[in-house]
Amino acid sequence: MCGVAPKLIITDEDQSMRIGIEHVFPNTIHRLCMWHILMKLTEKVGATLKNSPDFHERFMSCVWGSETPNEFESKWCSIINDFGLDDNTWLQEKYELRRSWIPAYFTDFHLGGILRTTSRSESENAFFRHFTNRNLALIEFWVRFETALEEQRQKELQEDNVSLHTLPILKTCWSIESHGREVYTHEVFAEFQSQVLAARDYCHVKTITQIGELRTISISSNSGKARQVSFNTSTRETHCSCRMFESLGIICRHIIVVLKNEGCNEIPSQYVLHRWTKMAARHLAYDANGHELEGSSTCLPPVVKKLYAETCSNFGLALHVAKHSEEKMRYLHKAIGDAYTQLGQEGTVSEQSKVQEFESFVGTSFPTVINSHLPDVAKTKGSGKRLKRGSEQTVTQKEKRAKEHHKNK
Ligand SMILES: [Zn+2]
Repeated sequence: MCGVAPKLIITDEDQSMRIGIEHVFPNTIHRLCMWHILMKLTEKVGATLKNSPDFHERFMSCVWGSETPNEFESKWCSIINDFGLDDNTWLQEKYELRRSWIPAYFTDFHLGGILRTTSRSESENAFFRHFTNRNLALIEFWVRFETALEEQRQKELQEDNVSLHTLPILKTCWSIESHGREVYTHEVFAEFQSQVLAARDYCHVKTITQIGELRTISISSNSGKARQVSFNTSTRETHCSCRMFESLGIICRHIIVVLKNEGCNEIPSQYVLHRWTKMAARHLAYDANGHELEGSSTCLPPVVKKLYAETCSNFGLALHVAKHSEEKMRYLHKAIGDAYTQLGQEGTVSEQSKVQEFESFVGTSFPTVINSHLPDVAKTKGSGKRLKRGSEQTVTQKEKRAKEHHKNK
């Protein structure tokens, strides 16, 4: 982290992590993962209540949809009263912790929509579990980990290529939609386009007031809530009471309506986050010591890595130039085919043995005598047994019963 503490850390409700974070990062805000908390809801209020449409809809609207602390507190209290949950100690605890997990209390963080849950890290864990297991030697783990990374990079390159060389279909004649298509990746554009469509179909300007350069526009939309958009006619700085930009980094339907009415044909540059653009992956990245990070970290020599990256880039550009002409496409097809044939005639690279591959990977030959020392045993998070939740215990008991039933057959 180069001596810079993170602004915010999201974890599950782990006491040891809470203490550790307070100790190591005293100025970092520690939030709890909403997904981990809500997963326990069925167990804590009972399946009947949890699955009743009225309770489920109101509870989810309360925790996810509240836009201000006041709105959250009011909705929460009415749910507790209406469903007779005053004695539920778990819900009482979660209410006390509300400033640590309810989005309405931390709407000002620019974290690109990732601040509510740890789902990204969880999905990464699941992804890497496909490639590794606990019985691997360190070097095998390392090689498999690299393979997994290569797969992710390959997928990213493919999606990058699609975003760069194809254009989604526009659904309105609004110039701002066309600008969004030019700058955003396909995935982000899909979200932006849904906001443009909602702006066209559901948003209406109700009132406009102006004090100096600051114009305040009241917008009604299909959510039923009136939104207040402020627009500075000099700087074009815009802010909406729904705070979607602050949370997701994409301007909302209400701001889009205001920009269109103000004659803006493009999204103002301060509202196009670089991380969502097609060019986000085109900048070089450096490690803490200022060394360029390569897109691939296999054991290729640096000169070959550089040539590899340039060849990939040139190939993509050549495809982009040639794809609109059959003649150019045929030329490229033949040139690549000829190069491939020529490479095949120059002899194949001899297959490396497993040991040679590992030695090449770590950059040294293996020693002939190995003196091993037993490591000191340290108690860390995740070691030892964890207490199981009620739902997990039920599943385990069901599995046991199924096994016994199978044996007795
Ligand atoms: Zn808005």
